[in-house]
Amino acid sequence: MQFDHIPNVAALDDAAREAAMESPVFGRVFTDHMVTIRWNETKGWHDAQVRAREPFVLDPASAVLHYAQEIFEGLKAYRSADDGVTMFRPEENARRFNVSAKRMAMPELPEDVFVQACEEIIRVDKAWVPGDEGSLYLRPFMFANETFLGVKPASDFIFCVIACPVGAYFKGGAKPVSIWVSDDYSRAGPGGTGAAKCGGNYAASLVAQAEAIRHGCDQVVFLDAAEHKWVEELGGMNLFFVFDDGSMITPPLGTILPGITRKSVLHLAKEQGIKIEERNYSIDEWRADAQSGKLREVFACGTAAVIAAVGEVKSTKGDFVIGGTQTGPVTTKMRETLTAIQRNQITGPDGWVHKVNLDG
Ligand SMILES: *Cc1c(COP(=O)(O)O)cnc(C)c1O
Repeated sequence: MQFDHIPNVAALDDAAREAAMESPVFGRVFTDHMVTIRWNETKGWHDAQVRAREPFVLDPASAVLHYAQEIFEGLKAYRSADDGVTMFRPEENARRFNVSAKRMAMPELPEDVFVQACEEIIRVDKAWVPGDEGSLYLRPFMFANETFLGVKPASDFIFCVIACPVGAYFKGGAKPVSIWVSDDYSRAGPGGTGAAKCGGNYAASLVAQAEAIRHGCDQVVFLDAAEHKWVEELGGMNLFFVFDDGSMITPPLGTILPGITRKSVLHLAKEQGIKIEERNYSIDEWRADAQSGKLREVFACGTAAVIAAVGEVKSTKGDFVIGGTQTGPVTTKMRETLTAIQRNQITGPDGWVHKVNLDG
């Protein structure tokens, strides 16, 4: 697809950009540009632009503001030792974006155009890609923008990519997180939108997350909506359980979000000869296995934090700890292996690291 490049006269100079990148809080600092592509029924995808990051002007009746037809992705770009920039498995995000689009009755974006849009913002904002422990977090998203109050799929959409320079997610190293088991709220149900990466899932999870914070926890863990028994995932991260015999369990796909970090961990675990099962695991098993010592480690994974140990679980039925609230060796090794592959410091499976052509 041909992108029009519209010069940005308001781009920050080197000194201002470096100040902004000093120690960026996750998701608070943005680069100078954005990529936008429009869709409507007659033209399909059109009007692709790389331009200054600026507010959208939306009609108060814009469909997204009323019916929440919106999806998004999250992936990271890294500065490599040779001053190049790489993305981690962007084709996976492109594919998942279209799975989400289908579920939300939105138009699919060709996978190569999705990846190209990510490359375009990296190229124009390459000075914003942090070195060392940092990365450039890319946020592709799409929303309905038809001016119409009525319940039907919209006929106008905007696809956009914005980017944030981010530091290490956990300052001063990763400390195990504590999680709260939500009794009252479900994140997703059978036939619902749990497997789509849509803003609405997050809107539905916020009250449970607030409850977790009130109980002194970092994150909420959701159980299945039907039986309220099976462990699903955190608000924005998938879960892995590590046992004393070296085997692992992760909840199966269905109502959870199919994380690319989850998929990568599954692949690496199998490569390392770990016996790993995708199967239902109940909150009662979790408690009993933690108390008996059979369960050695639990970790959560997602693009933003990569891998974080879960040290403590709190619930209305009592609290328990895992692995003495320390980060265990399997979690540490998985995090080190995965981050080294993502940063192109060691060679991972074919196709995981996508080199960006910075000259376009
Ligand atoms: C994005 C997301 C994840 C993690 O997916 P990754 O591709 O690994 O970043 C997990 N759960 C939810 C609900 C998410 O939205």
